[in-house]
Amino acid sequence: MAYKINDDCISCGACAEECPQKCIKEGADKYVINKEECINCGTCAGVCPVGAPNEDNDEE
Ligand code: SF4
Ligand code: SF4
Repeated sequence: MAYKINDDCISCGACAEECPQKCIKEGADKYVINKEECINCGTCAGVCPVGAPNEDNDEE
């Protein structure tokens, strides 16, 4: 299980700075979480101003 950033992301970068795993990187349209490294801590969801990171229950 991992968090996933949806299209509401405004690429502010706050989550990437706070992620303890440093597994969030800037992508073309939004920030992207490396789900192999994500430990599901929820820190990104807590700091995001637009609620873009959510638990991804669709895969694995
Ligand atoms: Fe990083 Fe935690 Fe968010 Fe996963 S849930 S991307 S480990 S801050
Ligand atoms: Fe995108 Fe939210 Fe991360 Fe900012 S904190 S880069 S809006 S997911």
